[in-house]
Amino acid sequence: MKTQLNRIDELRSRVTGSVLQPADPGYEDARQIWNAMIDRRPAAIVRCAHAGDIPPTLDWARSRGVDIAVRGGGHNIAGSALCDGGVMIDLSPMKAVRVDSDRRRAFVEPGATLGDFDRAAQAHGLATPMGINSTTGIAGLTLGGGFGWLTRKYGLTIDSLVAADVVTADGRQLRASDSQNRDLFWAIRGGGGNFGIVSRFEFKLYPVGPEVLAGLMVFPLDQARALLPQYRRFAASAPEELSVWVVLRQAPPLPFLPQAVHGREALVLAIFYAGDAAEGRELIATLRRFGDAWGEHIGLQPYTQWQQAFDPLLAPGARNYWKSLNFIDLPDGLWDVVLTAAGRLPSPQCEIFVGMIGGVSNRTPADATAYFHRDAKFVMNVHGRWQQAAQDARGIAWAREFFTAAQPYASAGGYVNFMTAEEGDRIPAAYGSNYERLRAIKKAYDPENVFHHNQNIAS
Ligand SMILES: Cc1cc2nc3c(=O)[nH]c(=O)nc-3n(C[C@H](O)[C@H](O)[C@H](O)COP(=O)(O)OP(=O)(O)OC[C@H]3O[C@@H](n4cnc5c(N)ncnc54)[C@H](O)[C@@H]3O)c2cc1C
Repeated sequence: MKTQLNRIDELRSRVTGSVLQPADPGYEDARQIWNAMIDRRPAAIVRCAHAGDIPPTLDWARSRGVDIAVRGGGHNIAGSALCDGGVMIDLSPMKAVRVDSDRRRAFVEPGATLGDFDRAAQAHGLATPMGINSTTGIAGLTLGGGFGWLTRKYGLTIDSLVAADVVTADGRQLRASDSQNRDLFWAIRGGGGNFGIVSRFEFKLYPVGPEVLAGLMVFPLDQARALLPQYRRFAASAPEELSVWVVLRQAPPLPFLPQAVHGREALVLAIFYAGDAAEGRELIATLRRFGDAWGEHIGLQPYTQWQQAFDPLLAPGARNYWKSLNFIDLPDGLWDVVLTAAGRLPSPQCEIFVGMIGGVSNRTPADATAYFHRDAKFVMNVHGRWQQAAQDARGIAWAREFFTAAQPYASAGGYVNFMTAEEGDRIPAAYGSNYERLRAIKKAYDPENVFHHNQNIAS
């Protein structure tokens, strides 16, 4: 034990950020991640103050054969940010976002959340495609691909990644871009944290907002059978400015809904329009005719506000279990499966969402970046969520049953950022014919698989 402590003191002397051990104040907070189902205790947490803390921590851990996990925003469903007994390299204190509005570029540290990014970029009326929950980490989201409300118009998050600074397993600090270390740049755009630790991202930015037309329309679930085929037809010709996601869940106690429907099973259309508001309103009028809604709340609002709209439903601290599939089409048979599962939600917080992507994200060739399934027009996630461990078995069984029944209608592969720890066998299919190239790049940059707490690509 004494030796172990001495060793940690040596690590402390080599970094600027704090190094927390289990008895230290702040340790318990620092080991919390979004999914409360994951409960692991690293032997040490290095709270990196700057990029310079990464190489000595890697060197210290590697030279002693100590296991390494990397944390950005701590949102990964599989809990890959946490290890038991090793070192967690915690990048979350590194949150700076610098915007060069003339060049429409953002330079982002790896602990920044989507909220940090949006605030800084929107101060200049700019944005780039990110996810739908503001507390998600930029780092993990980007490395797995990244999609959200702007994806149909501007592509995946990785499609706007211009360059990244990467610390490799052997401590080298490399720049990855179209002109430098191109294989590494290809791999980190979808290949996750397998190849090194990104200490800085550089993104393209686009003019967005500051106000956007967005909001929710809430229908009773018993209208879903008539509504969903209309949605499918509508989605097939929707302009790229428009994203309409379908969420099936119990109606939350939203102020625009009559109290009597709170907690009843509902179909929610979450609507975002990144274009001329008058044109957007016309499209939304079509959606309104899909059924007889319980209520709606749609209008112009700050982009940053919409980016936080789902935060209350996705707050950290609950137990979460996900199953996800990609789709090119949404046939009737699939809706039967969806509606059966939506009629049996095992807890009030569970939901099934169908994220509408497609658009520009479909136009990049499948082998242009590591993210392979460029044909996906929709990503469905069955989101099991509850508060008590005693609910785990029932909730997990519900999600798995849905996944098995929905799978025959899905297109190939899946989204690595939505996969749980038990889904390692889905990783090769997620990368399709890009997988062999990823394995070769892994072998070149991380032959000892130092970075293995992730959706792992074994060389
Ligand atoms: C509530 C919620 C909403 C979400 N919504 C969306 C969405 O709309 N769109 C979408 O695309 N995804 C979404 N996701 C999925 C999200 O993209 C993944 O969970 C992602 O892994 C989160 O990144 P993080 O940095 O917060 O995670 P972390 O758990 O901190 O990191 C995950 C893994 O990424 C790697 N990693 C993190 N930082 C670095 C780094 N700097 N260098 C190298 N590797 C690193 C490590 O392997 C790490 O274990 C959502 C997740 C949640 C929980």
